[in-house]
Amino acid sequence: MGKVIEMFGINVFNDEVMRQRLPRETYQALHRTIDNGRRLDPQVASVVANAMKDWALEHGATHYTHWFQPLNSVTAEKHDAFLSPLSGGRIINDFSGKELVRGEADASSLPSGGLRSTFEARGYTAWDPTSYAFIKEHTLCIPTAYCSYSGEALDKKTPLLRSMEAVNRQAVRILKLFGRNDATRVTPSVGPEQEYFLVDKKLYEQRSDLIFAGRTLFGAMAPKGQELGDHFFGTIKPRVQAFMSELNKELWKLGVLAKTEHNETAPSQHEMAPIYSTVNIACDHNQLTMEIMKKVADRHGLYCLLNEKPFEGVNGSGKHNNWSLTTNTGYNLLEPGDSPYDSAQFLLFLMSVIKAVDENQDLLRASVASAGNDHRLGGFEAPPAIISIFLGDELTEILESIEKGTAYSGREKTEMTVGVHMLPKFPKDTTDRNRTSPFAFTGNKFEFRMLGSSASISAANVVLNTIVAESLRQFADELEKAENFQEALHDLIVRTIRAHKRIIFNGNNYSPEWVDEAAARGLLKLDSTVDALPCYTDEKNIRLFSTHGVLSENELRSRRDIGLDAFAKMTGIEAKTMLMMARRQILPAVLKYTGEIAAAGNHILQFGQHLPHTAADELVERLCRGCDALNQCIERLSGSLEGQPADGEPLERARYMHDSVMPEMAALRKVADELESITDRKAWPFPTYDQLLFTT
Ligand code: ADP
Ligand code: MG
Repeated sequence: MGKVIEMFGINVFNDEVMRQRLPRETYQALHRTIDNGRRLDPQVASVVANAMKDWALEHGATHYTHWFQPLNSVTAEKHDAFLSPLSGGRIINDFSGKELVRGEADASSLPSGGLRSTFEARGYTAWDPTSYAFIKEHTLCIPTAYCSYSGEALDKKTPLLRSMEAVNRQAVRILKLFGRNDATRVTPSVGPEQEYFLVDKKLYEQRSDLIFAGRTLFGAMAPKGQELGDHFFGTIKPRVQAFMSELNKELWKLGVLAKTEHNETAPSQHEMAPIYSTVNIACDHNQLTMEIMKKVADRHGLYCLLNEKPFEGVNGSGKHNNWSLTTNTGYNLLEPGDSPYDSAQFLLFLMSVIKAVDENQDLLRASVASAGNDHRLGGFEAPPAIISIFLGDELTEILESIEKGTAYSGREKTEMTVGVHMLPKFPKDTTDRNRTSPFAFTGNKFEFRMLGSSASISAANVVLNTIVAESLRQFADELEKAENFQEALHDLIVRTIRAHKRIIFNGNNYSPEWVDEAAARGLLKLDSTVDALPCYTDEKNIRLFSTHGVLSENELRSRRDIGLDAFAKMTGIEAKTMLMMARRQILPAVLKYTGEIAAAGNHILQFGQHLPHTAADELVERLCRGCDALNQCIERLSGSLEGQPADGEPLERARYMHDSVMPEMAALRKVADELESITDRKAWPFPTYDQLLFTT
């Protein structure tokens, strides 16, 4: 492998390349656009396009595409060759500023949630110059936003960019109050840790559930799971190591800051964490990471499972979304700081997050809702479906002493008046390591741990940025009017602690007592996607998103409906896959095996009457009963599927799947898994958990 420094970003049209290849004025104009979110001048775009094209051709690209993120969970691209015809049958390589800045996409089969009428199926794509263009397999990819002709966002990037603007606007107001006039821009930074499973590709190909649903729908647990804790941070096996090395190399070439790699808790589970970056870039890079993971796995005879719950009985996979706010002067606003003034500013930003999370538990839960993630959340391994914040004992105690006006009893025994006293130094390590919390303060950032492993990180960050923008807006409105800033600030912080401390919980989120306590505190528990997604169009949330210009009521409704529709469809696919496997694989295999055992029993009866044959008789009986039960479950699941409302509202369809189909799926699985445990492994029609989990 070449040196990291040499290969890093070689396929990216990054700042360094732009500086080298663009005329000085063009480079500066482009930078103004990037740094300040300005519109790009068409003439500048033209020069950039030309330089980009030359660079791409030199790097072996033949095509270009606007690379965008439609409302399902994948990225979309439509390749165009860099060519224009000349007279006489000749061609030239061509790529204009217009083509760089704006593209058209007739993407009528992409979901729009009712935003785009079918007679006007076209949408347009617009370059996001803050995210660098890159080359992927002979194609220059231009990260773009995707909107309808009436300007409604049909993608995940547009609202993310809008939410970044929203939080920037409000955070800068707060910084002005603290006299920090030099900081003119605040951006959310995010480091998303990505979990995944690797399974042998040959085994994967033998399981219809993995192929169609991305997760196992049947499977008795192997004798060993993760109970010994011997996989987490364990030695990485050579085949997986080879995969990881190549993954890193591919990601580095694309400018993705892949940094940490390790085994995760479950057997065959792994994690990759990048170094954090600006949220829209982190989001683009995470999409790329998932795509490259799949491709690289394939080259190593492996299959990469990104589903949130590939295996029952061991941990599922998520994404830990590490989030903070950074100024263009290089300060992390969630870093406690070194002076009383810094401490006060830190506390205000901290409180803005605490207030935001408490007031918008519904939105945070909705932002991570999907059929796959429902199986993971609350599964005694991942965070529960209840949102709370972990602050650590020390910081919690500091907030208590501020609220009550009492001396802080920590190591340094200080009383805390906001703006007068400095926060005592607390070691970062004591603020970490509550792995059960869905939303943890980890010293200089918050870690939102409920995100699903297969989904884009966009929705969660759109919500985070917007709800924090709203807290900051209210804070700024109040403080800008204050006669005595210091007093008003102290008063505001005390009031906010008092109003929102119920969301702080440092204990074990997996314990059953927490469910009761959370209910007593009035915290929401939205167990399923069907419970969570409808909140997008609650009045409070429509007002919130429109106040900040992030999503209109129509755009919110489209996201709610697309999410519910996807839930209903995915559950339908899973149910049909189960029926296929049960009818055409499990039942025939077990019946055949039962016949063999029955024949063996008869054989004993016929030729060795003096020999005991209870084992065969008993096994035949258990198998027969199991097959009958399986048959009944098949019929019940099939009946419930047939009863689904043909074309009702997405909420109605999703609710039906959740309430009527999913319980039948669970019942069928239970019977099948019991049969698996008494059937000859050679007779079982597809690879089992012990093979899937322990052979990579
Ligand atoms: P773990 O939570 O597993 O201990 P790490 O300490 O490796 O994880 O870091 C988690 C992630 O947090 C990394 O992606 C890292 O870049 C990111 N991170 C660190 N500082 C910040 C920050 N200020 N803002 C956002 N993300 C950050
Ligand atoms: Mg983490």
